[in-house]
Amino acid sequence: MTESASSSGKEPIKASELDPKFKYELTKMHGSEKILKCFQCGTCTSNCPVARYSDSYRPRTLIHMAQLGLRDRVLKSDTLWLCAACFTCTDNCPQGVEVANVIRVFRNLAVESGCFPQVFKEQAAALLESGYAYKIPELRLKKRESQCLPPLPKGNPEKVRKALKGVKFIDGLQKTGGAT
Ligand code: SF4
Ligand code: SF4
Repeated sequence: MTESASSSGKEPIKASELDPKFKYELTKMHGSEKILKCFQCGTCTSNCPVARYSDSYRPRTLIHMAQLGLRDRVLKSDTLWLCAACFTCTDNCPQGVEVANVIRVFRNLAVESGCFPQVFKEQAAALLESGYAYKIPELRLKKRESQCLPPLPKGNPEKVRKALKGVKFIDGLQKTGGAT
């Protein structure tokens, strides 16, 4: 996954990019209430298993960008989608910032504004349509048949749609026309 210079925070910051209300909006959202308590110690990043193997994913930096008001840079950052939601950061933050939940809030906001990777769009659309996150190609189904394997169980998209009702990602996806 690549990240553009502007979304990585490497480009010089322009005053027009700053949204001073962003951090206060975040303090009112479930999971990111304590974002202003972050004093940038870097413990979250140093313990993050994803950051260990990535040159660009840094939860501390994302939180810093949000504190500065760089709404678009945070929400358009490709690295946002690398978080594995393991909660190691949350467990280790000396300030009690729920870092993993903050990342979830960023993701929800990104989805609301239509900024998320195409692959998730496709997976969610397949899930809503077939009950499976991956649309199994016809060729593969035929191959199973030729090898005398039993047919795959049918997905239940109706149940999936019901279970996912109210999930922001799905709602956002439907709003942006990524799924029916
Ligand atoms: S561990 Fe907590 S206080 Fe330290 S940088 Fe991460 S969020 Fe901020
Ligand atoms: S929840 Fe995400 S940011 Fe936190 S340690 Fe795990 S991978 Fe890193």
